[in-house]
Amino acid sequence: MQKSGLYLWGPYGDYAGKSSDYVKWREKSIGRTGKNIMIFLLAVVMTVVSVNPMAKYRSQIKTASGQASQAAIGEGVAKEQLFLVPDNRQEPLSGIPVGDLKKEPGETLIVLDPGHGGEDEGCSRNGVQEKEINLHIVCQIQKELLEMGYRVRLTRNGDQELTLEERAKAANETGADLYISIHQNASEEADAEGIEVWYSSQNQREESQRLSRIIQKYAVRSTGAVSRELVENEELYVIRECTMPSCLIETGFLTNKAERKKLESPEYQEQLAKGIAEGIDAYLHPKTMYLTFDDGPSEENTARVLDILKARNIKATFFLVGENVEKHPEMARRILQEGHTIGIHCYSHDYKALYASVDSYLADFEKAQEAIKAATGTEAKIFRFPGGSINAHNKKVCQQIAQEMTDRGYIYYDWNASLEDAVSSPKAETLIQNAVTSTLDRKKVIMLAHDVITETSQCLETLLDQFPEYQMEPLSDQTPPIQF
Ligand SMILES: [Zn+2]
Ligand SMILES: [Zn+2]
Repeated sequence: MQKSGLYLWGPYGDYAGKSSDYVKWREKSIGRTGKNIMIFLLAVVMTVVSVNPMAKYRSQIKTASGQASQAAIGEGVAKEQLFLVPDNRQEPLSGIPVGDLKKEPGETLIVLDPGHGGEDEGCSRNGVQEKEINLHIVCQIQKELLEMGYRVRLTRNGDQELTLEERAKAANETGADLYISIHQNASEEADAEGIEVWYSSQNQREESQRLSRIIQKYAVRSTGAVSRELVENEELYVIRECTMPSCLIETGFLTNKAERKKLESPEYQEQLAKGIAEGIDAYLHPKTMYLTFDDGPSEENTARVLDILKARNIKATFFLVGENVEKHPEMARRILQEGHTIGIHCYSHDYKALYASVDSYLADFEKAQEAIKAATGTEAKIFRFPGGSINAHNKKVCQQIAQEMTDRGYIYYDWNASLEDAVSSPKAETLIQNAVTSTLDRKKVIMLAHDVITETSQCLETLLDQFPEYQMEPLSDQTPPIQF
């Protein structure tokens, strides 16, 4: 294995077996108190080793040291710290625990797999070896995930060589919740660059795809790297043979000079690891988005929206206009039959007439309620004010109307993000951008869209791809409202 000076900073690999160096590195990262703890723990380890008649077994020394290092980073001593690979194939002690072989009920275990190792260097350029970069990044991800409170297991923690079967087994046998493989890319084209995530069509396709999309999004965001297309594949062994949601991340191109330089730097590796760990966390703790469509139904556009939602098994909310329900009652019924929530918008979308007085509003609302009931048999309890609860047309009457509607047992929903698609000649690109920028990473988003707008229905697929970290839910009268 060639080693260049570039790796001298290496947090783990190059401190193999050297206690004092290891302490030195730890001192840098955890300070003097940490150093003292480490010295104490290492002393304990050495004592145990010297008095324990079983100490000749190298694996126990490694186990004890693994516990020591894990304790030093505040995780506490793990119940079982064992190595995956057979003892005779392990490199000298690297100082990091491979992690847990088991998880307690309710815990989340993530298996991280640094690609290649041992004789298999992966792709290498200018003395930069893929196997080493992979391990450095994985160690950083491990650190981030441990700090977030997850259980983590590595398939290798040094320069061991593993078969693909052993890698998949490491995840399957431990009942891991996620499997993440880290690799570096190579290309004939010298300027090929960016992050590329692979998932298997053969293993939990939808979940693996969602995991990949989120990780890609977060890693790109934290590094500023180029975002490459997701790759669906049916052959790659490790992501296919794992039984839990899995992906393989090519974090960059060693064949691209500028990107290779970045990939070598600890700062960039940390950025990558942060993004990937945040992506994993976002996958495991999805935020909620309520997609809401106003002003329908219409024939073609509503049908297109419903087709897309059906294909993705997404339930949304439709605030209907009574006049349009009378024109397309079958579409209103289809909305309900396909499991979406129906809310009331108005009967006639005429701001002036609607908001002329409290009575005019109530009369229109009742008419809308009747039209929807006649078409679908449902009596909606939730509604949305045309233009929102406070708008330029209803300032004088909005409070009174809202009070009266609340007294009658209805709940109204405004929104906190929008495509801003109710404009003349909307452009798909702008609508998507509006939606993305207006969510502001909120944990709970009510997104306003209009299923009657052609561009909205046409860009819906691309739009949904922008929000992999959100679980899409329909509103119900139990959903806490968002009101202006
Ligand atoms: Zn590779
Ligand atoms: Zn409207």
